[in-house]
Amino acid sequence: MNPQDQDGRRPRAIPSHLVNGHSPLHPSFSAERDREERDQAYDSIRSSMGPRREPIDLNDLHIDGEPTPAQTNASQQKSARQYEEVGDEDLEDIENRVAARDARDEAPLTPPATSRSISPFTANPTVDFEGLSWPSVGTLDRLRERTRPEDAEARLQKLSGAVRTILECIGEDPDREGLHGTPERYAKAMMFFTKGYEENLRDIVNGAVFHEDHDELVIVKDIDVYSLCEHHLVPFTGKMHIGYIPSRRVIGLSKLARIAEMFSRRLQVQERLTKQVALALSEVLKPQGVAVVMESSHLCMVMRGVQKGGATTTTSCMLGAMRKRAKTREEFLSLLRR
Ligand SMILES: [Zn+2]
Repeated sequence: MNPQDQDGRRPRAIPSHLVNGHSPLHPSFSAERDREERDQAYDSIRSSMGPRREPIDLNDLHIDGEPTPAQTNASQQKSARQYEEVGDEDLEDIENRVAARDARDEAPLTPPATSRSISPFTANPTVDFEGLSWPSVGTLDRLRERTRPEDAEARLQKLSGAVRTILECIGEDPDREGLHGTPERYAKAMMFFTKGYEENLRDIVNGAVFHEDHDELVIVKDIDVYSLCEHHLVPFTGKMHIGYIPSRRVIGLSKLARIAEMFSRRLQVQERLTKQVALALSEVLKPQGVAVVMESSHLCMVMRGVQKGGATTTTSCMLGAMRKRAKTREEFLSLLRR
């Protein structure tokens, strides 16, 4: 990336607010709040890739922070003890630590885990562009095999064997003529469906971010998305719509589709996919605002379970001005409806 992108500022003959309508009288955007929003999106992506969440017990549900009778006894004893143990100086220390903590501070670039026993939550090293490519535990092994064809072949063989097992388990004969070669074909297809693990944001946007005095909404609609639901390993497909308001940086339009493609060619849940695309753009472009909306149909709903063929799922993630300014958001949504 151009080193000038680091601060995004270059000396100009005419101040930008005089040439493109970006008035200093407009309420300024709070960098701090934008940061918080991005951190929230980042945290929620991490937690959705983390250990299995416990379902909420309905008995524990309560309103307005009022504990249920069942919780009260246990938590009263616990909190009384906490108050005894935490002194003022401790509190100050805790506050400092909380203030200093940034999701990107932890988990420095580490070599791939040699042990697979750690949870995916702790094992996602934040590699590549501040971790925005969100690799999984085996990602780096897979990447390395690009230069080690024999290892890649061994992986494919192993995967084919697993597919053969699936065929046996469903009551088929993997050796009958029609299924000849199916395990190998499926293994290759599966590697293609998940090829997003071999890509990262830095390579995709490399050389495609430009300085431009454009501060109006940019939208790319109807990006086709094909992904795999991580709960059932069956596809969900749909359309993604991406909009952003630049702040001196713009990105080649085709790259928006490439970013969507990179994150969708992995095991996903739609909510996380939407957030990852929004946050990636937010980090790359530091725009005034980003909005990502995705509508899709999940085969795990359509083919099994509730079997509601027409059901679509819509998710959205709005950051910065797109979130804060109702008018901007409305403009984006009305442009989508056209
Ligand atoms: Zn599913």
